[in-house]
Amino acid sequence: MAEVVLHELVKTYPGGTARATDEVSLEVADGEFMVLLGPSGCGKTTLLRMVAGLETPDAGQIVIGGRDVTYLEPRRRNLSMVFQSYAVFPNKKVADNIGFGLRVHGVPADEVRKKVEWAAELLQLTPYLDRYPAKLSGGQRQRVAVARAIVMDADVLLMDEPLSNLDALLRLSFRAELKKLVNEIGVTTLYVTHDQVEALSLGDRVAVMREGRIAQCGDPVAVYTDPADEFVGGFLGSPPMNFLTGAVTEDGERIDLGGQTLPVPRALESFRGRHLRLGIRPESISLDLDGDGLRCEVQVFEPLGSSTLLTTSCAGRCSKCRRRRVSAPSPARCCVWACRRSSAGGTTPTRSSAWR
Ligand code: ATP
Repeated sequence: MAEVVLHELVKTYPGGTARATDEVSLEVADGEFMVLLGPSGCGKTTLLRMVAGLETPDAGQIVIGGRDVTYLEPRRRNLSMVFQSYAVFPNKKVADNIGFGLRVHGVPADEVRKKVEWAAELLQLTPYLDRYPAKLSGGQRQRVAVARAIVMDADVLLMDEPLSNLDALLRLSFRAELKKLVNEIGVTTLYVTHDQVEALSLGDRVAVMREGRIAQCGDPVAVYTDPADEFVGGFLGSPPMNFLTGAVTEDGERIDLGGQTLPVPRALESFRGRHLRLGIRPESISLDLDGDGLRCEVQVFEPLGSSTLLTTSCAGRCSKCRRRRVSAPSPARCCVWACRRSSAGGTTPTRSSAWR
C-alpha cells in the first residue's frame, strides 16, 4: 500500500512573512490521483517538495505507505518526480534517458532494456528510442520525462505542472494520455497545477488550496457543483461563477437583490430575513422573456460555436451567462452562502447550500 498521509504540515521560508503551508492535512489513497490546485503562491509546490523531501517542514508529519518519511532523504522515499521543465539529458538518447535512473540504481542491463521498452510502448515513444531530445517535439520530450519517472516502480508519482510548457493542443492530447497511463499503472499520484480544467479532468480528487491551506478537497464534480465557499466557487469554472448579494425578505417569500427580487426556492425558506451571497454558474442561468426572474440587459453576445456567451447587466452587476441554445429555458441551479452581519457592518458567509 502506498497511501500518502500529510499531517498538519507547516512551512515558512527564511525571511518569509506568511506560512507557505499552514497546517495542511491530506490523505491520498493507494492508487489515487490527487490534484493540488490553486492560484500562484498558494503553496502547492511547497507541499509537493515536502513530500519529495526537497523541503523540510517546520512541523507536521509525512507518512508514505505506513512509513514516517518526514525527515528521510529524498532517494530513500521511493518516489518519482516530473517537473514543469522537461529535465531530460540532451546528450543522451531517448532510451538512455528513460533507463538512466534504473542504471544508477544498479538494475541489470537486460531488465533496464525491458522496462525502457515497456514505458516507451505506453508513452508511444518506441520509434524515437534512438533519437536525441533535440530532435523531439516538446510533447515528446515531456513524455520521455514521464517514461523515466514511471520505469522506477516508485510508490508515489509526483508531478509539478508537467503540461505547462506545452502548447494548448498538445496539452489537451497529452492530458488524456497521462490520465490513461496513470489509470493503467495505478500508481498513487500527486499532481500540481493552477489550471482548473486540467485539475477537474485528471483528478480522482482535487484539493483546492488558498494561502497555504486546503480550502476544499473532493471529487471534481462535487467541488465544481457544490463549492465550499466563494473562493472555490470563483476559482473553478470559466467564465467564473457570478456572485450577487441579497437578503431574503422577512416574509420569506422573495430574495431582494437591491431593487429587484426573486421568488425564494423552498430550500431557502429557513433563511428568512438573512443576507445571502448567491453563486450562479454561467451555464445555470436560463433566459426567459416571460418568467419571474431577474431583469437583465444583454450587453455582449458572443457565439462560441458549441455555446453562446452573454454578458449581461443584472441587479447592477455584470454577469456572464452561457447557453447552448439561447432560447431554451431550464431551472437554475445556484450555490448560496448564508451571511450573518459582522460587527463591522459587513456580512460573513456561514455555510453553503444549493437548490435546483
Ligand atoms: P506557483 O503556482 O506560482 O508555482 P505555488 O502555489 O506552487 O505557486 P509555492 O511555490 O509553494 O506556491 O510558494 C508558496 C509561497 O512560498 C509563496 O508566497 C512563495 O513566494 C513562497 N516561496 C516559495 N519558495 C520560496 C523560497 N525558496 N524562498 C522563499 N519563499 C518561497
